[in-house]
Amino acid sequence: MERARKEAGRTTERTRVNQSLVLNQGKVVEYRIRTSQRARSVRLTISPRAGLTVVAPLGFDLRRVPGIVENKRTWIEAHLLRFAEGAVDAEAAGKTGRRKTDALPETLDLPALGESWRIEYRPTNTRIVGAHIDRPGGIAVYGAVHDRDACRDALKGWLRLRTREEIVPWLTRLAGQNGFKFNEALIRGPKTRWASCSPKGTISLSFKLLFLERDWVRCVLLHELCHTVCMNHSPRFWALLGGLEPECKTIHKRMRDGWKRVPAWLEEN
Ligand SMILES: [Zn+2]
Repeated sequence: MERARKEAGRTTERTRVNQSLVLNQGKVVEYRIRTSQRARSVRLTISPRAGLTVVAPLGFDLRRVPGIVENKRTWIEAHLLRFAEGAVDAEAAGKTGRRKTDALPETLDLPALGESWRIEYRPTNTRIVGAHIDRPGGIAVYGAVHDRDACRDALKGWLRLRTREEIVPWLTRLAGQNGFKFNEALIRGPKTRWASCSPKGTISLSFKLLFLERDWVRCVLLHELCHTVCMNHSPRFWALLGGLEPECKTIHKRMRDGWKRVPAWLEEN
C-alpha cells in the first residue's frame, strides 16, 4: 500500500480494492474502494451501472471502510430498490439530508445513439460550468461543479449538442430518403413533447429523444416529417405514416410512458 502510494505519482486515483456487504435476506453487494487526492471525506456513490463505490481520501485507513459501509446499509438498500424499480438517476451518499433534486448523474445512457457515457465532475477555477467529451466514453463537467444547477444546465447543453450532431442529420437523411422537405430543425427540451412541426415546416426536437429506443426515435422523426405535408392527425396522416413504417402506430402506443426513460435529474428545475 505504502509503495503503491509513492509510485502512483500525481494521479488522483490510487487504490482499488473489492469488498462485499451482506444485506438483509442474504443479498450480497460487491463494492469497490478507491482512494482519491480530491476526496476530503469518505463518500459512497451508487449507480445502476457502476454499482456501489467508496471513495476515500488518500492515506485513509481502508480497514475502517467496511464499518462505514455497514452504517450506510439502509441507504444502500433503498437505492438498490429504487434501481430495481427502474429509477435511473444516481445520487451521492453521505449527504442524506440532500433533496432528491440535487442528484446529478454519474452516467448517461443514450439508447437513441447506442451510447453510454461516464461523467466526471472536476472542480476548476472558473465561474462557468461546461461539459465536454474528454476521453472515449467520458464526459468531463468542469468549472464551479459545486453549483448543481449549473452542472445540470451544462449537461443539458451537451445533450442538445449531441441531438444537433446526431438526430438532426438523421432527420435530414429520412427526409431525403422519403421525399420530404422541412424548413429548419430546432432543439428543445419541453416537459411533455418529443417533437413538433410548425405550419412553416420548422421541426422542433426534444433532446430527451436521446433516451428513447432507436426505432422509437425513427418513428417520431417520420411522424414530424409527415406533418410537413399533413398538419393534422387525420386518417390521411396515419395512412402516410403507416406507409413509411407500419410499426409506428404500435410504437406510438408504447411510447405513452416513454417519459419514464428520461432521467429524473433532467426534469427538475
Ligand atoms: Zn403529430
